[in-house]
Formats: sequence, C-alpha cells, structure tokens
Amino acid sequence: MADDRTDCCIVGAGPAGLVLALLLLRSGVRVTVLERARSFDREYRGEILQPGGLALLDELDVLAGARARGAYEHRRFRLVEGGRTLLDIDYRRLPAPYNFLLSIPQRHVLEELLDRCRAFDGFSYLAGTRISELVHHAGRIAGVVGDGPDGRRTVLARCVVGADGRYSKTRTLAGIPAGRLDVFAQDVLWFKLPVPPPRSSPDVRIVRWSGSPVLAYHSWPDRVQLGWTLPHRGYPAVAARGVGYVTGQIGRAVPEYADQIHEHVRALSDLTLLDVFAGCARRWAADGLLLIGDSAHTHSPIGAQGINLAVQDAVVAHPVLLAALRSGDVSAPRLDRFTGQRRRSVERVLRLQVMQSRAMLSAGRLATAVRPRVAKLLSHTPLYPKVLHRIAYGDRPVRVAADLFTA
Ligand SMILES: Cc1cc2nc3c(=O)[nH]c(=O)nc-3n(C[C@H](O)[C@H](O)[C@H](O)COP(=O)(O)OP(=O)(O)OC[C@H]3O[C@@H](n4cnc5c(N)ncnc54)[C@H](O)[C@@H]3O)c2cc1C
Repeated sequence: MADDRTDCCIVGAGPAGLVLALLLLRSGVRVTVLERARSFDREYRGEILQPGGLALLDELDVLAGARARGAYEHRRFRLVEGGRTLLDIDYRRLPAPYNFLLSIPQRHVLEELLDRCRAFDGFSYLAGTRISELVHHAGRIAGVVGDGPDGRRTVLARCVVGADGRYSKTRTLAGIPAGRLDVFAQDVLWFKLPVPPPRSSPDVRIVRWSGSPVLAYHSWPDRVQLGWTLPHRGYPAVAARGVGYVTGQIGRAVPEYADQIHEHVRALSDLTLLDVFAGCARRWAADGLLLIGDSAHTHSPIGAQGINLAVQDAVVAHPVLLAALRSGDVSAPRLDRFTGQRRRSVERVLRLQVMQSRAMLSAGRLATAVRPRVAKLLSHTPLYPKVLHRIAYGDRPVRVAADLFTA
C-alpha cells in the first residue's frame, strides 16, 4: 500500500471538486483528487449552465476553453402548453455578457478544469479510484483510502473535502445523514435524439399537454435531449405498460420529434431514469472534513441550479480552507465558516426549485386553469426581474478570491 501526502484531498472530480482543486492550486496548496470514473464520458450529467456559473468559470479563465470544445447558447426558457407559450423567460434581459443559458456537455467543463489543474506540480489525479475508508488521526479525519487500478492507496491529507455527489460515500463514511427530502412529485426519464439545432438560437422548453410534461433542449453536438416526467417512484407502473406506451406519450407531447422517437427509442433500456430528490446534509463540516456541492446538498435538474451551486460552493470554500490550512486549525467550527456563508443561500435556492417544479409540472384541473393567468401576471410584475436574477445568479453574489492566488 503506497502512501501519498498532500495538503488537501478532494474526493470527486465533478464541477465542485475540480473548481476547488484549481482555486487551491493557484493559491499554492498541494491537492490530490480521487475520482471513481476513469473518464468523463458519463452521458447524463447536468448540462445547462446558468449565468452565475458562467461568470465564475470566466473569472477562473476556463469558460472560453470549455466552450471551444462545443456548446450551444439558449436565449430563452419557455413553458409551453397546447402550442401556447405561458411563460417566456428571456435571458437577454440580464446584463451582457452572461445573458443566456449554456448547454454544454459537463465533460467539456471538467476536461478544461483538469487540464488547468495538471499544469501544477502540486497536483495529483487518481482516476478510476473510489474512496473506501476515511483515515482518522489525533481525533480528526486525516486522509482517505481509495481502491484504484493499482490497488489500495492511502492519501494522507491535512484536510479532506467530500465532493462526490448526491450519493456521497465520503459523507456516509463520516456518519453524516444525507437529509434526503422527497419534495418533488416527478422523476425524469432522459434520452437523446440526433437532431441538429435550429439556425436561430434554440430554447430550453417545458412542454405541457394532457399527459406528463416533457423537458426539451438542444444538446451539443447535434442532439436534442428530452426528459419525460413521470410520478415520483412511478417507474415500475410505467415500465409495466411497455416502451410503446412511453414513446407514444412523448411523441404526442413533442410531435415534431415523434418519428425520431419511434426510430431511436426501441427499448426501455434506451431511457435513463433519474430519481429526483433534494437533500441537505445535517452537517457540512467535521474535524478535518468539509462537504461541498451535491454531497452537502442535492438538487433536482428542474431550474438548472446544481452546477451553479457546486461552483459557488467551491469558490466560497476556497478562502475558508486556505485560512484553515494556513492556521493549522481544520476543526469543524473553523470549517463551518463555509456553512455559515452558504447554508441559507442553498436552502433558498432549494425552496425556489420546489416552487418552480410545482408551478410548471403539477397536474390537476385547478393548477391547469390558474397557471396561464399566474404566468402572465408574473411576467408583468416587478417580481419578474428579481426572480430571473435569483434563478440566474442565486441568492447572493459570489466572487473568486483572486487576491489569494500565488500562481
Ligand atoms: C440527469 C441530471 C441532469 C441534471 N441537469 C442539470 C442541469 O441541466 N443543470 C444543473 O445546473 N444541474 C443539473 N443537474 C445537477 C448537477 O449535475 C449536479 O448538481 C452537479 O453536477 C453537482 O456537482 P458536484 O461536483 O457536487 O457533484 P457531481 O457532478 O455528481 O460529481 C461528483 C463526482 O464524484 C465522483 N464520485 C462519486 N462517488 C465516488 C467515490 N466513491 N469515490 C470517488 N469519486 C466518486 C463521481 O464520479 C463524480 O465525478 C442534473 C443532474 C442529473 C443527475
């Protein structure tokens, strides 16, 4: 068993983990990242980036490189019912240059971040390595044990960061409950079809009709991504009706894609089920450990908030961790300064997502009758720009602490 020593060991190379790695490396901290996957090719990772995330990635100087690998701009988010647009959220009402949603394969963002991290001598990346244990020393978490292609490996660190997503093993090993909240009434069945984007800027859409709503947007390269919503935990009942039922339902909601749906979705295995839930771990810090991103708080894909929050978490955690490492005090109260700065914002975004989900996806006669009026009213009140700003940027401004960079 080989032992590695580093300043900060980050578990998980998602947006939260890699943004934090780059920030710490630029501040002179040695970082080791453990990532379970060998490559970033996983198909269904979040793809829609809000302006807040775009602005931070640009401050980090990784946005242009990530976009150059391929992405589509979406200027509007629309809620459509029976061919009528109920809600038209026009991102061009936000100040340039971040006045759009970006549909970008997460792989492009992660590869760009990883390339930047690799430029630092103090960086070590263990791909294909899963965390299996936490190392405890002198009453605190002092490293991790990972199982990878070369066998078992111990990474001793002055602090550990759990950035390993919604089913975080780091969180479980630390004995911190996930705080799962089943507040969403729908799960989502995802799939992609080969459809080139329109010449004009495409939209992100939720299409309502007499059946379950469908989410639709163009995804790079030359794909349309469709997400059919179904009742939470209702998949076994849907599966029992067979693939023909599912494709028939989706084809009626988005008839423009009906032919491709029938051609490309032949079996239920062509669809990917997302169990949609939220979560907020009871604690985000322990002695020697900090949780960030989805491992601390999990989000529905509705409203595209998870990547924004993950990137913001990393940016807020950076000065907190740097100060803790410099002072030699990585105790839970010291690391909880991060929790103090983030918890309220995250909870407010979670509440906003629940509201968005209920307002746009709920069924029932009353909701269906009232929805067009409420949507029309919202677009004409002073609340509209405020809500748009909160969806785009989150609860409060977050800036990169570039003054802490040494390299
Ligand atoms: C289908 C889907 C669609 C979504 N759509 C959107 C969207 O459009 N916009 C948006 O903003 N959000 C979306 N989200 C949410 C968004 O993807 C997440 O909130 C965001 O990726 C969280 O980033 P993270 O870095 O915290 O975690 P993750 O992105 O989940 O990254 C965690 C990393 O940890 C690794 N890992 C896991 N376990 C281990 C282990 N035991 N050992 C080592 N490594 C491990 C994983 O392989 C992964 O690379 C979507 C989520 C899903 C599932």
